[in-house]
Amino acid sequence: MKQYAFGIDVGGTTIKAGLFNITGSLIEKWEIPTRTEDSGANILDDIADTILNKMQEQSITQDVVLGIGIGIPGPVDEKGIVRGCVNLGWKDVELEYELRNKTGLVVRAGNDANVAALGECWKGAAQGAKNSVMVTLGTGVGGGMVIGGKVLPGVHGASGEIGHIKISDTETEACNCGNTGCLEQFTSATGIVRMTKKELKESDLPSLLREKENITAKDVLDAAKAGDKLAEKILEDTGDKLGKALSYISCVCDPEVFVIGGGVSKAGEILRASIEAGYQKYAFHACKETKVVLATLGNDAGIYGSVKLLLNE
Ligand SMILES: [Zn+2]
Repeated sequence: MKQYAFGIDVGGTTIKAGLFNITGSLIEKWEIPTRTEDSGANILDDIADTILNKMQEQSITQDVVLGIGIGIPGPVDEKGIVRGCVNLGWKDVELEYELRNKTGLVVRAGNDANVAALGECWKGAAQGAKNSVMVTLGTGVGGGMVIGGKVLPGVHGASGEIGHIKISDTETEACNCGNTGCLEQFTSATGIVRMTKKELKESDLPSLLREKENITAKDVLDAAKAGDKLAEKILEDTGDKLGKALSYISCVCDPEVFVIGGGVSKAGEILRASIEAGYQKYAFHACKETKVVLATLGNDAGIYGSVKLLLNE
């Protein structure tokens, strides 16, 4: 009888790990540092060690462990091979195969944003929904699509790359991806700061942000909460662009719910409401009732989702 599963979420600085029972209750979670030196050569050994140590510490034998689910900050193909992951220093890594060899456990791997979307759909903000789309607003803008209870990875592992939907025809600066006018250039933490600096230069709206030296996205959203006119304008534009992008997505896959997560989403209701207002402005009439909600699992979405990825097999 299988009783336990491990969920692993590999980030560029830390690896989050969770021991779950297979009904999805988190028993214990912990973190280890991500050693990216030597092209990330130690990462899989570190993950294997921390799992095997935990099993020993808890007196868990291999036959009661269903396996390991793991999320990676890069594209993972259907054979569980990572095709290059800059954040970890990896080139091609046969992730599922290698980690299975090191632990003797079944391994299922997926892209971290897709996995987080699955986590929110299983135990978080979209719980109970079969079809949901998560948008992650962090340094960049990522996302994941869950269709019929399963993540949709896409042929190129690029499903859910919401940040690179072209949202502006007039932008001249290039996105990290090389295109111009991507959603991420406006609505990521970096994008919000970029647009605020531009607005501070170009408009004479009064703003307390004029006195700040190193403006962060949090400063801008806090200022909007406090009624700062310039910051309110930036917030409204952020919600408008995100809402427009979500209206495109609705016309493609018509999900039940959009989940807004990532560091920027800590701004809370004010941000959610502005995205919902943008969405209502552009949504196709049949999709107007689609909910826009804030993520609830925070940094744990990845460990929950990776366990669900394993359970879905
Ligand atoms: Zn782009």
